[in-house]
Amino acid sequence: MIDINKFIRKNIRKLTPYQSARRIKGDGDIWLNANELPFMQKKTFFFKNLNRYPDKEYKLLLKTYSKYIKVNYKNILATRGSDEAVELLIKAFCEPKKDCIMIFPPTYDMYKVYANILNVKIISLTQLKNFQIDIIKLKTSIENVKLIYICNPNNPTGNLINSEDIIEILNFTKNKCLVVIDEAYIEFCLHKTSINLISKFEHLIILRTLSKAFGLASIRCGFIVAHVKIINVIKKIIAPYPLSTPTLDIARSFFSYDSLQILQKNILELNKNKKKLIQELKKLSYVKKIFPSSANFILVSFNSSKKVFSKLLKNKIVTRDQNFKILLKNCIRISVGTYKECTSLINIFKAIEIK
Ligand SMILES: *Cc1c(COP(=O)(O)O)cnc(C)c1O
Repeated sequence: MIDINKFIRKNIRKLTPYQSARRIKGDGDIWLNANELPFMQKKTFFFKNLNRYPDKEYKLLLKTYSKYIKVNYKNILATRGSDEAVELLIKAFCEPKKDCIMIFPPTYDMYKVYANILNVKIISLTQLKNFQIDIIKLKTSIENVKLIYICNPNNPTGNLINSEDIIEILNFTKNKCLVVIDEAYIEFCLHKTSINLISKFEHLIILRTLSKAFGLASIRCGFIVAHVKIINVIKKIIAPYPLSTPTLDIARSFFSYDSLQILQKNILELNKNKKKLIQELKKLSYVKKIFPSSANFILVSFNSSKKVFSKLLKNKIVTRDQNFKILLKNCIRISVGTYKECTSLINIFKAIEIK
């Protein structure tokens, strides 16, 4: 029997595999725990050219996405989900054990996960009570910080970061560090994008994904949008042919005129369902607070999130308990589902008795 610990890097030894929403045990009929789009795609796909490495397909996707976001394709890279982008940025810019990333909990877990894997230090500045960034603290804490990760709208709280704060942070950090804005949910509030700031701030990096509003979580496709100087650094470390031909071709097909119409329709429908869900939840006596959301999920606080989570799970509805996170005691994150799923959820909420 080998002692595998003898061979593992020291900082990897103490890590545990990330508990993604899908890995958490429990059986369900209604999945509201991973913020996916609840609608299945109607297209079918066939591929014959799988014997060749995907080269021109990669460039074609960049050009298609470039038209969609109205940014030159030379400012864009496609990655294996935006999670890979989070990793590549830390890998490229942070010296292990020396440099830091800065994050603002409660926020998306993967920034921390990749920093830990790559043995890069983390400066965690807890958000203010209104879920905004503590800029005063930020200004006194950025020594050794190479990357700042801002999630906008933020997961799991659902709120937007003040636009003035983003500008202030960008102005302050010029020549000090790079600023990453993760816009995984931006399609649900597209007028709040910071993508137009790319031309103004050379140290700004925007992350996008097709996993949420586009409903393509399974194909694993994300984007980095930044100044060419930053793109060229990432090119040094990204794998050759990073995305498969099926991923690239499927992704590209979702930017056709018809598909973009469907995207708009889906966003409108989800925003409508969200409104209905909030309206109904407000009537329940055991709901303490529903936080404002600009994304396709809502954060709700209860007297006991544990009780509510397990009652929902008994009724085959899977949500995500956030109780263990800073500022989120007794909060549950609920993804907005189809109209039918929202109705089932509301009916179960009305039926369960919670003191
Ligand atoms: C879901 C999510 C992602 C998406 O990750 P992919 O790897 O693109 O599927 C990125 N950032 C945040 C904040 C998310 O919630």
